[in-house]
Amino acid sequence: MSNDLQSSNPARPSIWRGIKCQCPRCGKGWLFHHYIEQVDNCAVCNEPLAAYKVGLFLPLIVITVMVHVIGFVMLEMELSGHGSPLIYLYVLVPLSVVVPLMILPSSKGGIIGLLWAKGWSDEQER
Ligand SMILES: [Zn+2]
Repeated sequence: MSNDLQSSNPARPSIWRGIKCQCPRCGKGWLFHHYIEQVDNCAVCNEPLAAYKVGLFLPLIVITVMVHVIGFVMLEMELSGHGSPLIYLYVLVPLSVVVPLMILPSSKGGIIGLLWAKGWSDEQER
């Protein structure tokens, strides 16, 4: 229960390092060794990172961002007079595949940075 209070790491730099897909502690080692496969320990500072599980927070973030991106593009197309079903198919379907793939690593890294800064890991529950 007191885990929230004992954490002394500032969240903002850790989240920023995570968004850059780097270790939230040192900012030098990589957070992922494949696309979004999390490393167990940082290669530079040996910080254990495997216990920070993002769970369903990651799809929540990605879907929230995507709803705003797709909504903005649809609104712009309607307001500019280019809104037709075929244009939607050619623009929005590729956009809704490419954008999530682009933001997934940074989103996961940012969440891991937040979890690391606050000390919200699976290890402390045991
Ligand atoms: Zn590190």
